[in-house]
Amino acid sequence: MNGFLDYVRSLPKAELHLHIEGTLEPAMLMNLAEKHQVNLPYLTAADVERAYNFEDLQSFLDLYYLGASVLIDEDDFYSLMIRYLERCRDEGIVHTEMMFDPQTHTERGIDFSVFMSGFGRAMEDAKRQWGQSSLLIMCFLRHLPEESAFETLKAAEPFKSQISSVGLDSSELGHPPEKFERVYAAAGQQGYRLVAHAGEEGPPTYIVEALDRLKVERIDHGVRCMEDAELVGRLVKAQIPLTVCPLSNVRLCVFGTMADHPIRHMLKRGLNVTVNSDDPPYFGGYLLDNFQALHRELGLTMEDARQLAINSIRSSFIDEASSAAWLDQLSVPTP
Ligand SMILES: [Zn+2]
Repeated sequence: MNGFLDYVRSLPKAELHLHIEGTLEPAMLMNLAEKHQVNLPYLTAADVERAYNFEDLQSFLDLYYLGASVLIDEDDFYSLMIRYLERCRDEGIVHTEMMFDPQTHTERGIDFSVFMSGFGRAMEDAKRQWGQSSLLIMCFLRHLPEESAFETLKAAEPFKSQISSVGLDSSELGHPPEKFERVYAAAGQQGYRLVAHAGEEGPPTYIVEALDRLKVERIDHGVRCMEDAELVGRLVKAQIPLTVCPLSNVRLCVFGTMADHPIRHMLKRGLNVTVNSDDPPYFGGYLLDNFQALHRELGLTMEDARQLAINSIRSSFIDEASSAAWLDQLSVPTP
């Protein structure tokens, strides 16, 4: 087991589906609540951990938004991000593309300048100190109206050089991609790369809509594509990246157990799959924990892990020279 984990740690990898607000650890949540005198319905970090028994996506989101309410000043956003970037360094994640939810903060009266400067300072420190490569994906909350997404796109204009892409997250059912077709078209015209969550709890048709109407390059989750053979064929042919999050899928009951997860079938079918941690403390682990669970429960091999690492670099928005250098390192066959 350790041989497997050491090998996966040594592989240069990209993490492409990670919500920075979802990296808030229970201890930090409690510390910040005390710092800012925020009242939470928990007394200790252990109480918070006990609340992490989710029935579905919505029950997780309720806790996630409550947690985010303790993020208030620039230092809070800095601390949150630097902690995750240190984790990347320790797990061999050479490049990360982190999602953030401006509306979670602006709706509480916290300005773009507060979180963008905290995020930016952490990303610069990590780059300078150990060469960490990172990008930001600005996500619209899909349970909010289109108008709010347009306001967010407008408010982001002064910070555009810090943001590479636009994404779509939060409650999927009842909020199909088409709701955001116009704001995605505007974001695309402004030069943002486009991704979206689709086919996690929502049906395979949401994946088709995200591709055809939102014009996304990458699908976040996308696991329910396996219910539609024609769609699978299309995804294989176009090599559309799917940023799969195994521990998240099990914790949110998309699949009953890890043994039921289709990721190895997806790999065998030729889908361009990557492994990611989504909201790690909420779902029971960071990236290496996901690999370990797949190894233990599904028999994921070292060669599978190397293929997944190659897929992650290929599917990232990193510059071509860096991508070529990492892929060269990954071309060494599994021992
Ligand atoms: Zn997600």
